[in-house]
This record gives sequence, structure tokens and C-alpha cells, in this order.
Amino acid sequence: KREQLELLATVEAVTRDGVNLSLAGNISSVKELNLALKYGAEGVGLFRTEFLYMDRDSFPSEEEQFEVYKLVAEKVGNHPVVIRTLDIGGDKHLDYFQLPEEQNPFLGYRAIRISLDRKDMFKTQLTAILRASVYGKVKMMFPMISSLEEVQAAKAVLAEVMEELEQRGVPFDRNIPVGIMVEVPAAVMIVDILAEEVDFFSIGTNDLVQYVLAVDRMNEQIAHMYHPYHPAVLRLIRMTVEAAKHAGIEVSVCGEMAADERSLPLWLELGINNLSMSPQALLKVKHRTLNTVAAEAREVAKACFRMRTSSETEAKLSAYAKVSG
Ligand code: PEP
Ligand code: MG
Repeated sequence: KREQLELLATVEAVTRDGVNLSLAGNISSVKELNLALKYGAEGVGLFRTEFLYMDRDSFPSEEEQFEVYKLVAEKVGNHPVVIRTLDIGGDKHLDYFQLPEEQNPFLGYRAIRISLDRKDMFKTQLTAILRASVYGKVKMMFPMISSLEEVQAAKAVLAEVMEELEQRGVPFDRNIPVGIMVEVPAAVMIVDILAEEVDFFSIGTNDLVQYVLAVDRMNEQIAHMYHPYHPAVLRLIRMTVEAAKHAGIEVSVCGEMAADERSLPLWLELGINNLSMSPQALLKVKHRTLNTVAAEAREVAKACFRMRTSSETEAKLSAYAKVSG
């Protein structure tokens, strides 16, 4: 079965009735990039950079980061690479960077909040990303945005870094696309406002589900309550897509929901053509795409958007995934 799937690596992801999807990889290392490319990823939709910072005893230097970002950009070639700035805190820690003891780490000192607080470290990373931007189609993305101020503050630091690079005479892409993760419900509620500030959205369903349902994504005891198909989640996703369309910016999905082939009807109905997922999921999602008639799947999704419980929706999508392939 695996060998048969691997034959699909070079095949385009297109539904039976001709809807083209772009399937990219989520990676956190060069090793994972190689796997993603082997499985036919059209670029990197999410480069989780925190792994560059882990398993060592100090922050990685600008040069060290630059080398990795450049290598990834070059290997990916003509496809985009979305580099996400550091997302530590929550469940991810660094030995050499003392994070506070927190009662609710996922609601605490995390991701962009740390970057904006530790500007030195943030600037080093932004500099490295910008320097790599001339070696491929690099895009930059900020995690865990919950307000307009955060986006503006991050962009102000970016502008500062651009000035400095200019002064150093170092080349970079002045028009590097800048986007945000939409993964906090507050961001969705002001998504029309945020759309005016950025070039793209990437929906992070892992955190979006945890935050909107108030269900810790790491807590085994309540894992049965972690429902990606909860109507609240579907509504938030739809709001995000509608705002992106209205503003004319790109939107993709990079959380685990994208890796669940049962979700495909939802993306087809919403008109989301860009999905990013763990390398291991690429071929099964492509296989499902090739066996799906978009016109039919959209009808299934329309029914799902009217459903009142996650179990109904999950049952409907599971059943459809079985019959259509
Ligand atoms: C997400 O939250 O959906 C996401 C893709 O980011 P991470 O899993 O790294 O938090
Ligand atoms: Mg996240």
C-alpha cells in the first residue's frame, strides 16, 4: 500500500472534476524537508523554527539560522517556504532560556509574545530570515497573533531590521510576504481588521481547536473533548476564509485538520486550495483528492456546516471518505 501511494509523489493533486490543490509540507528540520520533498510536497507551508533553538545550550546565531533557512529555501526551489518565527512556550521549552513557571502555559508567555518581549532575539531571527529571502520564495509568518497591535509591533521590528540590513549592504527581498497564523479565536473575531495588515493567513487548527473549546491539546484526560469538527471550529474557519477572500489575501490551513483526509470536502466547499501537513500525510491526502468529485464533496460539506454537533459532522465526513474512494 505504501509503495503504491509513493507512486503518487509526482502526480498533481487534482479532484476528478479538475479542482487543483496545492499540498505543502510542515517541517521542523532539513530531514523532514527531505521527506516532504520525497512525498511530492509543493513547498513548505509551515517551517516550525523552534527546533533550531532546541537541544543546544544557547540561542542560535544569525549565521547559524541563516544557513538553515537558506538551505531550505534553495532545496525547495520554485515553491514557497513559509518560515514561522519562534513559537516556544506552551509545551515547548529551551534549556538555556528560563521561562516562568506558569499555571496555564498555553495561555501564557508564548510565541510572538516572547518575540516582542525579547527584541534582541527576535531581530536576530528576522535578520536571518530576510537574508535567506534572496535564495528562494521565502515568506514570513508570526504565530499566536491575538491583536492588531501585535501585528503592527512585529512589523515595526521587521522594518527596523530591514533598515539595518540596508545599511549593512546585505541583499534581501523587500517585498517578502508577511502573514500570520490564525489560531486564537480573538484573531478570528477581528480577522477583517488583521487582513488589512498582512499578505496571507494560515489557519492553525491545533491551537484554534484548543483555544475555542477550552480543551488543552496536551491533556489526555480530556482528549475525547478535542473536536476539530465542532461547529464552533467550522464557523471560525469559515469566517477566516471569508475575510481573506474579501480582502483578497491568501489563506491556507496548516494544522492537523489538513492532514485528516476526511476534511477535504470542507476545504473544497470553502475554496481553500492550499493545505500544509506533516510529510507522512501528504500521499494519503493526495490519494483522497484524486478520488474525490469536488461538486459532490461540496454538497457533503454544505450539510456539515449546518450540523449542530461534532459527532454528526464527523460521522458524515467519515462515511463520505469511505464511499468516495
Ligand atoms: C497549529 O496550532 O495548528 C499549528 C500548526 O501550529 P503548532 O502545532 O506548531 O502550534
Ligand atoms: Mg499553533
